[in-house]
Formats: sequence, C-alpha cells, structure tokens
Amino acid sequence: MASSTTTLKGDEFDRQLFESVLKRRFFFTEAFEIYRLSPNFKGDNRGLFDYGPPGCALQANIVDMWRKHFVLEENMLEMDCTVVTPELVLKTSGHVDKFADWMCKDSVKGDYLRADHLVATVLKARLARGTRGLVKDSPNLEQATIDEYNGILAKIDNYDGDGLAELIKQHGIRNPENNNEVLPPVPFNLMFKSTIGPSTAAPIYLRPETAQGQFLNFKKLLDYNQGSMPFASASIGKSYRNEISPRTGLLRVREFLLAEIEHYVDPEKKQHPRFREVSDIVLPLLDRETQLSGKTTSRTITIGQAVESKVIDNETLGYFMGRIMLFLAKLGVDQSKVRFRQHLANEMAHYACDCWDAELLTSYGWVECVGCADRSAYDLTVHARYTGTSLAVKEVLPEPVKVEEWQATLDKKRTGPRFKKDAKVVQSAVEALDQVALESLAAELEKNGAVVIETPALSDGTMNVELSQELLAISKITRLQSIREYTPNVIEPSFGIGRILYSLLEQVYWHRPNDAARAVLSLPLAVAPNKVLIAPLSSHPQLNAISHRLSARLRKMGIANIIDASSASIGKRYARNDELGTPLGMTIDFDTLTDGSVTLRERDSMVQVRGLEDEVMAAIRGLLEGTETWEQVTGRMEVFGAQEEDY
Ligand code: AMP
Repeated sequence: MASSTTTLKGDEFDRQLFESVLKRRFFFTEAFEIYRLSPNFKGDNRGLFDYGPPGCALQANIVDMWRKHFVLEENMLEMDCTVVTPELVLKTSGHVDKFADWMCKDSVKGDYLRADHLVATVLKARLARGTRGLVKDSPNLEQATIDEYNGILAKIDNYDGDGLAELIKQHGIRNPENNNEVLPPVPFNLMFKSTIGPSTAAPIYLRPETAQGQFLNFKKLLDYNQGSMPFASASIGKSYRNEISPRTGLLRVREFLLAEIEHYVDPEKKQHPRFREVSDIVLPLLDRETQLSGKTTSRTITIGQAVESKVIDNETLGYFMGRIMLFLAKLGVDQSKVRFRQHLANEMAHYACDCWDAELLTSYGWVECVGCADRSAYDLTVHARYTGTSLAVKEVLPEPVKVEEWQATLDKKRTGPRFKKDAKVVQSAVEALDQVALESLAAELEKNGAVVIETPALSDGTMNVELSQELLAISKITRLQSIREYTPNVIEPSFGIGRILYSLLEQVYWHRPNDAARAVLSLPLAVAPNKVLIAPLSSHPQLNAISHRLSARLRKMGIANIIDASSASIGKRYARNDELGTPLGMTIDFDTLTDGSVTLRERDSMVQVRGLEDEVMAAIRGLLEGTETWEQVTGRMEVFGAQEEDY
C-alpha cells in the first residue's frame, strides 16, 4: 500500500529522525513519561500524549483557522457540550451496542490485537518479503497470491468479525511479534465507562464524539436560528476512544481533539445554496466500487461532475467535501497527498448511510483525517423516539395543499384509565408514527384486531404497548395541509485535529541539502507556532533593549514571536527555529544602532533582506495578511542572498 517515503524535497523520509525532531523541540511527548518507568506503574500509557508549547500553538492555530473557515464563514452555531454522557443517551444512539472494533487475543501471551490491523500487517509483510525476495529461503509469492492479498487489503475495512475470523484461519495468520496463534475475533466496545457520583447505579461514558450533545440540543438550536433551515451547529472538544492497541504515535490515540459540524438539511432538499463556489474543484476520489474491485487508485473529477453522476450522493455532501479540500490547502497540506475515500458498506458507522473520508498520505500510508458522513435522520429520530420530544422541523407551506394520508386516533376515554401516567407517552408515540408505519399498522390492525407499537420508555421500563381496535383506529383521510413536518438529515464533517496536525508536520518536513541533521518544517505563516524569531547578534544591552521593543511591537500586532538572545551562533539559532517551523527571522546588529536597519530572513530559502525597522514590520504584516509575497519583499528591499549559515 502507498506511503509517503520521501520528504518535501524528495529525500528519503526517516520517521525516527523526524519524530526525534518533534520530541526534541517539544511538539509533543508521551503522557506520564516519568511514571511509566516506575516498577509500580500498572497498565498502559499508549495512545496518550501531551503537547508541548509549539505543538499547542500549532494546534491552536489549526483550530483558529477551522473556526474562521467554517464557523465564521457559514454562521454555524457553535456549542460546547459535556464530555460526561449518561449511558442512556449512548444506548439510544447505538454506541453502547455497536461502537466496537474486533480484537484477537494472543493465545499464549494474552495480548490483544486489533483484528483488521493484524491481518493487514501480516499480509503486507508477506507481500514485502515475497515480492522482493527479502528472506533467503522464502520463495517469491505466486502472482495469484499477490493479487489475492492486494484484493483483501483494498477492502480490509469491509470485513466483519466472521469475515476476519475466516481470513485469519484461511491464511494462517498469527501474532507477528512471536508467531503465537490468535483466538477468533471478539467485539470490544471503544468507550471509556465510569459512574457519576458515588452511586454505581448511574453509569456514564466519556463521549466518543461531540455530535450527540449537539443533537440533543437540536430543538433549542432550531429556535435560536428562528426556525430557519438549513443550518449547521459545530463543536470543538476532547473525545475519547479506548483504542485496542494504539501503535501509530499521534495518529491513533485514546484522547483527542475533535472538531465536528452537524449540518441539518431537509431530506427532500439536499441542494446547497453555495454549491457553485466549489463545483469546479477537482477531487481525487476512491469510490466504493473501485475498492471492491480490489484497486486503490483514485480518479480525479470535479465536484460538480461527481454530484451530477451520483458518485457523490448530493450537493450538500459535495459542498462540504470541497470546503474540506480548501481548508486542508490553507493549512499547507500537499494537494497531491490528499484523497477522498468512500466507506465500504460494512465499514460505515452504525448511524451513517454514506461516508467519504479525507485521507492524507503519510509514512504510515493513507490516514483518515476528516470523516464526512451522511448520518441521515438516524440520531434525531432515535433520540426523539426514546424521549418523546419532537426533534422535527415544522415548515409553513407557502400555500396549503390537499393531502391524502393515514391518520391514527386514540380513544382517550379508554386509553387514559388504561395507561394512567403513561397515557401521554403512548399518545406521543402514536403521533410520531410516519405514513409508512401507519399504512402497515392499519393492515395489521384490520387483520389481527391489535398492534404493538414502540414507545419511549414507560414507567415499568418497557418500550412498547399493545393497542387493540377498541383503543386505536387508523384510517385514510383527506385534509388541507399548511404545515409540513420532517426530521432533518445530518451531513457531518468530523475533523481529527491531532491527525491533521501530525500528517501536516510529516508533509512539511525536510532537511537542508546533504545535512539530515538540519531539519526544517515548512509550515505556512498562518499556522506556524511562532511567526518571527528575533535574534540580537550580540548581548550588548542596547541590542537587547531593541529586541524587546521589536517583540512588543509585533505582539501589539498579534504576531507571535520569540527572542533568542542566547550565545549560540546565529546559524544555530536559525537552525533551532527552522525545526520549530518559524517562517521569519529578524536580526539586530550594531548597524541597527546607527542607521535603524534590521535584517529579515525567510526560513525556506534562507534569503535575507535589510531595511529600516518600519519597512521590515510592514513586510511581516503584508506576508501574514497575504497582501505581499516574499518575492515582492525581495523585489523592493536590499537582498543579502542565501548564505550557507555558520552552524
Ligand atoms: P469517526 O467518527 O470515526 O469518523 O472519526 C472522526 C475523525 O476523528 C476521524 O476522521 C479521525 O480524524 C479522528 N479519529 C478517530 N479516531 C481517532 C483516534 N483514535 N485517534 C486520533 N484521531 C481519531
């Protein structure tokens, strides 16, 4: 399978070296690192990371850009909901029963391995060995076996527990670390469970996504939006998944920042008013059919064509895929290392009816960074059904229309005494029945004299009632309809900020020619943790005073900067900041004292210009605001030329 094996400048990508730069510069570190070495430390800190100052600043800048690109640009209604979620909510949403991955137990050591990852790892290793003759006595694989393995890998996400069990048996798959046999896969729920307060009777989970909090507030959001549709809510917050065996650094973690949009749309009007703005954008798409045929090559197509030919189901889904692409480009993601992959039927989350992932190419292969799912009316429907609270939209029609429809009527004189305090719940359950349900219930009532309908939870804990013909009548009527009621569909773009951050860092990493020790992160100005390095060339007090004044001036303009007044050579100071991705460097020397000039250095080219302090400040502001390019700056200021810096 594809992986990005070269750096931004085409040198071989060395992940160990790359990660050592990130750790040395404290982008991130393992959580509880000093405790993990203690003999008393029990358990596992895999998949738990702390971000250091540059990692934090980078994350904050990505989130800031996300807010501007989505929330601000589209007037989304942002929410901040709780992480702690009662079990009942997640039982209703289906997460308690279905939010699980398949895992296998090592029959000897007892370790747990994620089943699909186990199969993929073993088959990839066999392909690598068997196609390159890497192992001495191992013959090359037959072409038919190579094709078979590649076919399995192309649709590995589509296998359920039985399918994975079959693959493990058929291909003799064992734990690659020790060659032990593994037991058949069993499901493992990915949510962290706890209780609220001292009572064990109140189970809760840490949320696995921010979406549910938004759905539960749908009625209030709709009111806040003056009942107007379509609209979107958004939320940024920590989410938790108890991943079975996380091994891929920041990419698969157990606690992560998720930024999610829930766009509510009329199921009969999935056009988007701003679709034209994205319809000409070309996307690399890897659709379901291509994957099922065992292939992994994507094809490029405009969003307009993809929606027209129904490869992408509707305009709203296509609109958000386009907006995602534009957002990734703004961050500095390499456009040739992005693709949109459609989920296979079995891979889709239990709530989704279609899903496209934006994947970024990294040294680990293609990594899902943004999921863009059509959740249909699933979540709003199940929460409304359980709670008996309507989460539907009432649309006033421009003119009343005549409709023929099924209508259910309860005999309240009888249902009141019969159901007592549950009578209202039963009535709302009957009112919530849609036309399809009413039609089949009418036939059943006629045939059997009684029907069973699902209800929200009743006082005895049950969730259905039997209604006889004496209590319930269902008939077809004709009426004038002036209000249309529907449950919105939800299109959900869901961004894993940590995955985007890591993949971006891999993509912008390179090193100076012939010097693997001098790493550079070519982060765009907008997201770089610090924008400007200020470096006085001597520790003279007057130069220090100027450094602090320049720093304050930049701070006033909202520009993050850092003073490095250490005694290290200027080359070393530049190199340290190249590793932090700092795009610009200002130096102050004794000429500054006499003529007020400073230098400005650009990270990637190492070209320097010299000018008066105000000119340089104007250049920095122009570069940040996008009103000037570096080429324009070098055109109007005195250029020093790229120098091999003393290091
Ligand atoms: P999902 O709800 O599974 O589609 O996940 C939404 C997004 O969350 C994905 O596109 C990933 O970017 C991110 N994500 C999911 N699981 C993890 C994880 N274990 N670690 C980091 N990011 C994750």
